[in-house]
Amino acid sequence: MAYLTLKDINKIYPNGFHAVHDFNLEIEKGEFIVFVGPSGCGKSTTLRMIAGLEDISKGDFLIDGVRANEMGPRERQIAMVFQSYALYPQMTVYDNLAYGLTLQGVDEDVIEEKVKKTAKILGLTDYLDRLPRALSGGQRQRVAVGRAIIRKVGIFLMDEPLSNLDAKQRVTMRSEITQIHRETGATTIYVTHDQTEAMTMADRIVVMKDGYVQQIGTPYDLYFNPVNVFVAGFIGEPPMNFIRTKVTNGNIEILGTTQSLTALGRPELAACEGKEIVFGFRPEAIQLGQVPDSYTITATVELTEMLGDNTNVYITAGDEKAILKVEPHDTPEMDSKFTFSIPYNTIYIFDAATEKVIK
Ligand code: ATP
Repeated sequence: MAYLTLKDINKIYPNGFHAVHDFNLEIEKGEFIVFVGPSGCGKSTTLRMIAGLEDISKGDFLIDGVRANEMGPRERQIAMVFQSYALYPQMTVYDNLAYGLTLQGVDEDVIEEKVKKTAKILGLTDYLDRLPRALSGGQRQRVAVGRAIIRKVGIFLMDEPLSNLDAKQRVTMRSEITQIHRETGATTIYVTHDQTEAMTMADRIVVMKDGYVQQIGTPYDLYFNPVNVFVAGFIGEPPMNFIRTKVTNGNIEILGTTQSLTALGRPELAACEGKEIVFGFRPEAIQLGQVPDSYTITATVELTEMLGDNTNVYITAGDEKAILKVEPHDTPEMDSKFTFSIPYNTIYIFDAATEKVIK
């Protein structure tokens, strides 16, 4: 049996706004789940329903097989870290960490041992006497995480905990949180709008849009087997290229060249004759020059962005544009002609009307 079960969960706010629709998910003990999606898609609302901070309008929430809809936040044995650190400014790091345990009347000796252990995990040992204002943003966020993990809880909820940090600190904290998860083994649900955080941290990702779950899967699944245009475009940076085109006599016109759909070796695409489709390929999937089993295209280089480990190449061909990712040493000249190939096995075809992938 799953540790956490969300069954047909819905949230309708008092003003009638339906923020979450039929959310279904089973979470195993110890899993690291990430809810990801654009602003307003219902991630925080779902997390807050799990935390017991928001009523569940419809559906069932079970912890270890027991219905928990009506349980208060404390009863759920949950710890939560928010975007704002909400530390007590007049208390030292030690006292901030100890506070929850002191309230519970835990023995001073036990508290000291736990504070020291938590500080060690989080690299805060040298800062225990400091006040929050004498810490960097990353250190403050570590204290906030520490306050949550110091209590023994089964479920750890985090709502955009890294969004107040700069890019470098985010990368460091990302791996620290993953490490803490490994050490504590707590079932974790983490909310973010950042697909890189989702991809690097999650065992499984839940992609949401407009209150609906789009897809649930491992980072690998979502990258290689997206179910629709939204997920395909959301996961990956730069995003997948999408080109709308019409199937005519088994051919499609993409990036100024006519290509045969039958060459893809997918006979089911014959059913798309006369229909509009969306042709998708990832910037990093291309190969230089002409290679077998692929569509070869010659385009004009509009702009190049040298990023160090790779270069983004913006091309135009016919009326269409795309972004390609190449090795820095292969960066083409601006305004030059550039020939590249899209291997058949890296191409995605979506139904233009439903935006669902055609398999
Ligand atoms: P963000 O990344 O911006 O935090 P989110 O995905 O977490 O977004 P939610 O905060 O869950 O989104 O909000 C989902 C939708 O519900 C939004 O359209 C929001 O405006 C709406 N909403 C949130 N709280 C309320 C409320 N108390 N009453 C009515 N609507 C609300």
